[in-house]
Amino acid sequence: SAQVVDAVARALQQADGTRRLEVRANADTPQDAARARRFGAQGVGLCRTEHMFLGERRKLVEQMILAGGGAARERALAALLPLQRRDFAGILEAMDGLPVTIRLLDPPLHEFLPDRTELAVRIATAEAHGDLPDPHDTELLDAVNRMHEENPMLGLRGVRLGLVVPGLVAMQVRAVAEAVVERVRAGGSPKAEIMVPLVGAVEELRIEREEVERVLAEVSAESGVPVNCPVGTMIELPRAALTAGRIAEQAEFFSFGTNDLTQTTWGFSRDDVEAAFFSAYLDKGVFAASPFETIDREGVGRLVRIAVAEGRAARPDLTIGVCGEHGGDPESVRFFHAAGLDYVSCSPFRVPVARLEAGRAALAETEVSDSR
Ligand code: PEP
Ligand code: MG
Repeated sequence: SAQVVDAVARALQQADGTRRLEVRANADTPQDAARARRFGAQGVGLCRTEHMFLGERRKLVEQMILAGGGAARERALAALLPLQRRDFAGILEAMDGLPVTIRLLDPPLHEFLPDRTELAVRIATAEAHGDLPDPHDTELLDAVNRMHEENPMLGLRGVRLGLVVPGLVAMQVRAVAEAVVERVRAGGSPKAEIMVPLVGAVEELRIEREEVERVLAEVSAESGVPVNCPVGTMIELPRAALTAGRIAEQAEFFSFGTNDLTQTTWGFSRDDVEAAFFSAYLDKGVFAASPFETIDREGVGRLVRIAVAEGRAARPDLTIGVCGEHGGDPESVRFFHAAGLDYVSCSPFRVPVARLEAGRAALAETEVSDSR
């Protein structure tokens, strides 16, 4: 097996010498970032921040999102700031010297808000016992009812949340900027990038970007350490792909979110892909592989090509990557190579496969042009 390990190492080395695509990894903890680096990742292409708001921090999220008044929200944000700073500092340290794309909070709200039924049962039980229900429960139920959505995946997510909840974007960006300052002072070379999710219109990005830049400038002035983070956006809605030229005016980089782009292009729920009709579609040959696993070249892939062409026409130095699950699928990697992307980002374990495939795609291209 030492021979196999050797052969794999040689193949990877050869692929690295040939490929044009960079390979980054999706990682949201220092452990994952370190693992990705061991697998050869050239940065973190997607650091999701949703998980950083679960567990014990959930209470703070409730206060941040549901608080009617500003004071409770501000307290929650102030409590979250040092926690987030630590989250980001750890990942930046593990990926020191390499880009780390930190995505602003993108939760489907239903995963964060307390359960309506549970709250209602608690209130009803108290009342049945002749007790006064906990006023916090009544208040929460009220707020949750107000914010309830039938289609949370099409609801208050991504950039929309940032535009609606005052202080949220500023808190996250300040945490990133302060983590950068901390790392610089420790002698490191942090390369954080800020990514805005679920943008459909350039105006959304313009407004959010102004806020991001205001906070970066603020932290730079306070600390005396210049914090320059590129600001970019996910392209994960058909409207974003179709207006990519406009969006590129406000973005230093694009990253295709093919999970959402597939969901919104086909109108298939990414959470229900096991639904009966999906396996029937595979059986009947509507498609040969799930479009959530392998890029659908005619639909989603066409939107990718449109966005690359429009984005680069508007901004020739635009960096373009992909961070959906497709980033680690060999067939999709070949497509992204041909589409002219700069990088793919995939789960840490898929990094070696993506490196090999990116090398193969580049090699196949030279062979074609050699034989002409
Ligand atoms: C995507 O939509 O492809 C993506 C990477 O973001 P998420 O899976 O977190 O929605
Ligand atoms: Mg997405």
